[in-house]
Amino acid sequence: SLQVNKLTIIEAYNVLEADGAICARQGSGYFVSTQIVPYANLQPTFSPAQEVIIKEPGSNSFFDMHVSGVHAQRQPGMIDLSFGCPRPPKNLTQIAKRALNQADALSKYDLPQGQLTLRRQITQMLVHQGLNVSTENLIVTNGSEQALSLAIYHFVRPGDWVIVEAPTYFGVIAILESLGAKIIGIPMTPEGMNLELLEQYLCSHRPKLIYTISTLHNPTGLTTTQAHRQKLLALAEQYECPILEDNAYEGLNFEPVPAPIKALDKNNWVTYVGTFSKTLVPGLRVGYMVVTGEHYQAILERKLFHDVHVSTFSQAIVSEYLASGHYRRHLSQLRAENIQSRNIMLQAIEHYFPEEARWTVPKGGLFLWVQLPGDIPIQEITKEALSQNILIFCGSPFFPDKQGYPAMRLTFANSAEDIEKGISILGNLLKKYLSR
Ligand code: PMP
Repeated sequence: SLQVNKLTIIEAYNVLEADGAICARQGSGYFVSTQIVPYANLQPTFSPAQEVIIKEPGSNSFFDMHVSGVHAQRQPGMIDLSFGCPRPPKNLTQIAKRALNQADALSKYDLPQGQLTLRRQITQMLVHQGLNVSTENLIVTNGSEQALSLAIYHFVRPGDWVIVEAPTYFGVIAILESLGAKIIGIPMTPEGMNLELLEQYLCSHRPKLIYTISTLHNPTGLTTTQAHRQKLLALAEQYECPILEDNAYEGLNFEPVPAPIKALDKNNWVTYVGTFSKTLVPGLRVGYMVVTGEHYQAILERKLFHDVHVSTFSQAIVSEYLASGHYRRHLSQLRAENIQSRNIMLQAIEHYFPEEARWTVPKGGLFLWVQLPGDIPIQEITKEALSQNILIFCGSPFFPDKQGYPAMRLTFANSAEDIEKGISILGNLLKKYLSR
């Protein structure tokens, strides 16, 4: 039988009590605290890529990924831990019918910046988050993908350097590649991108844009700290490099997160991007951007030439939904479901994954990120997982040079059963490869 020194046990209770994980009740014993901070002790020392990644313009794999890649591999009955899509709201059809009845706007063209009612509603949401914006700074876009593309094509020319976090959202890597920009990938840390390296590269390469997913980062799930946000903005101002802040997972935090960097932006260095894809449904294609200062007009013109405006029907559905009051309820339900599934996934990972694995503990969003020992053949594991009906994203598409980083992104927006099954199969695979 296992021999454990009594002092070790007492020490363990002391540590748990000091962390607030348990509380002592005189005469009754120890109780698990309801205030427990889940798995805080599992927060890894996080460094997906140690070095800055420099990527010259080259091939673009985003199209493959969307058209023949992971999307095409999705089959009914699979456990999909790859793409994170929220559960659609129950009453969306009803809301859509109402929107259609009121949509006399369908019979005419509208403003490129979007319908005023919707812009007012989005502005209100953003003001609530601490942003100093008005309807005059807002453009409704075809998903946030269009907003990112409009901003990038506005600020960057072919051959310019652009800073991104490494890892980062692959859709932006693809836009930069299609434009012929040169990419500098600055390693992420648990506080946000490495600012020392950022400053070094701001100074040496004079990039034209910094792209950051400041809150509930895709793919790592990390949130840039308040202090880091302030320093990042100060550096951007000092080196006169605009920031593109992508807050695609806005509203999906189940723990407090700092206000967006845009809320600190007094001198119009930050362009802010958000979306309803993660909180309502991606198929409506309604996103938005906040552009302050001289850039607004130019970006709006570009938007007009692209597609005139976002579907008035889609805009009316979102607007109707926001007005109905269901949105808040839907968001709090989503958050409650997501925190539960995050915890189930963390527990499963802790149980099934090899001890060499390190993972992030996100404050919301849809993903967490698992890092594995350097020599593990992650592509092979991803393929083998697929043959067992488990779909995941391995780390490489999230890095500008798309090298085989030993990491994976897992979405916890799934049923408890699927999470448990998926993680146990993945855990067995990882252990098998590690023991080779
Ligand atoms: N930004 C990030 C960080 C994303 O993860 C995504 C989609 N996965 C987008 C932008 C684009 O989303 P959409 O165009 O649907 O708003």
